[in-house]
Amino acid sequence: MTTTTENEPADIAYPSLPQPDVTVVIIGAGFAGMGAGQRLLKRGIGDFLILEKADGVGGTWRHNTYPGIEVDIPSVAYSYAEAPNPDWSHTFAAGAELLSYAEECAVKFKLTNKFRFGTEVVSAEFDKATDLWTVSARDADGDFTLTTRFLISCHGALSTPAEPGIPGLDRFAGTVILSQRWNHSYSLDGRRAAVIGTGATGIQIVPAIADTVDHLTVFQRTPSYVGPKVNIRIPGLIKILLKRVPFLQAIIRMIGVTAIDIAQTFGVIRHRQFPFITTMAGRVIRASMKARVRDPELRAKLIPTYGFACKRPLSSPDYLETFNRSDVELVTDSIAEVVAEGIRTSDGRIRELDVIVLATGFKVFDLPYKVVGIDDVELSEYWRTERMRAYQGASVPGFPNLFLAPGPYGVIGFNWFDTIRLTTGLAVDVVCETILRSATRADVRTSAFEEFAHAATRAADSTVFKSPGCNGSHTYYLDQHGDTPFLRPFSISRSTRMSRQARSAYDYTRRHPDFATRIDV
Ligand code: NAP
Repeated sequence: MTTTTENEPADIAYPSLPQPDVTVVIIGAGFAGMGAGQRLLKRGIGDFLILEKADGVGGTWRHNTYPGIEVDIPSVAYSYAEAPNPDWSHTFAAGAELLSYAEECAVKFKLTNKFRFGTEVVSAEFDKATDLWTVSARDADGDFTLTTRFLISCHGALSTPAEPGIPGLDRFAGTVILSQRWNHSYSLDGRRAAVIGTGATGIQIVPAIADTVDHLTVFQRTPSYVGPKVNIRIPGLIKILLKRVPFLQAIIRMIGVTAIDIAQTFGVIRHRQFPFITTMAGRVIRASMKARVRDPELRAKLIPTYGFACKRPLSSPDYLETFNRSDVELVTDSIAEVVAEGIRTSDGRIRELDVIVLATGFKVFDLPYKVVGIDDVELSEYWRTERMRAYQGASVPGFPNLFLAPGPYGVIGFNWFDTIRLTTGLAVDVVCETILRSATRADVRTSAFEEFAHAATRAADSTVFKSPGCNGSHTYYLDQHGDTPFLRPFSISRSTRMSRQARSAYDYTRRHPDFATRIDV
């Protein structure tokens, strides 16, 4: 293929056509955006920009700084295979450490001159006359537009805070803190605090603030399975060994990733064939939860009655134990409304509060900007009417040269870095193929898109989420149609095989510079 130096536009392949300002725009400087940038550079494409709303890299680990934040899968598996980190302080690193790791990777991947921080993308529109995307954005200097041939959207699968829809929040006289945008200038010392939400975020915040606040009330709508978590400090000697023998770390990573894949494939994806796995795992976790909470009434409230793995299984060394304290209350009565002095539950009781922490989760695959494809079709609208789908979790017909990293059916469960590898890998493969063919447009064929969507929805029928045991779990893995777009329902090895030749599922065409016609290339 045509290779370019870092500052030379890769678009030189079609010089007589209208040229974009930049060949590739990546949106988001989290791990996915940096992974896409690193892959482009590896393939010799240096003409790209990474637009990022925040003032630095790290994505979720920059935004989420709530007390107690740490990764909930082993750090050795939660990292780029190409950038092993021998310096993790613990088996499950804290959020700040992940942010530092992201910053180090930006340097290691030679991306530092590619970022445009403080830049919020507002919309992206495809112009079928030029096969270019026009990206509208705003930064400190105001609004501007940028044209690009290819757009790789790495804004995150869970990045827009969900609106909890609790009436009266705006009437609260105290302070409301959003877990995703923690207000560090507000001191919790001696406050009467409430945490709403007991998902992965809530169960980390609750034990982390229980000692600081005067009294803590936890509002739980649906209980979560919470297993034990042993977070071991990694001794210096082990770190030295991992640094000197990188191969060792690669093996440990591989073991971690494989273990997660096996658990996910047989416990979650192929639940229909192996239902006893979740049944047994559920029994074990419920027994361990029982042993950790003294009060039987409390136990009954904290231990789920729906099946294991319907929601993301969680682990914590101290969340359940926190409820053994006399200054921590668990409330399972539903919230009726927020009033000026606190929260009123459906039984009419008001808990007086100084601060309410919302750990109420995210909107799944919410596009924080408007994406308009061919014939003015808007992507969010398309998904609303046609259901959330994307070929290999990355492409939608009618939205040429656009890649979601990841989009619906693109997330490989707990394995974010393989999710990134596959979705950004496909994006960069197709970008290269388009340039190699001197094409201006790559659009996934509808037949391939439908075939993938059919295979994904059929495979999803065997997942645990579709089992009756998940009724009442309130899982975000199921959307309003009963679809499961948040999971790529295939194992890592199958997903890798599926994506190997995926670039051949695209139509590559070129807009002729002199005639308003398209040419197959
Ligand atoms: P979540 O799992 O969606 O949990 C949101 C919680 O808020 C749920 O308990 C939900 O109750 C509750 N809730 C929402 N609206 C409510 C309302 N109106 N009234 C009462 N309760 C309400 O969100 P999350 O905890 O932020 O976690 C989301 C995902 O982010 C995780 O699954 C994980 O993938 C990722 N995450 C990772 C880490 C990590 O690695 N360290 C940490 C945090 C998050 P219902 O269950 O009834 O809906």
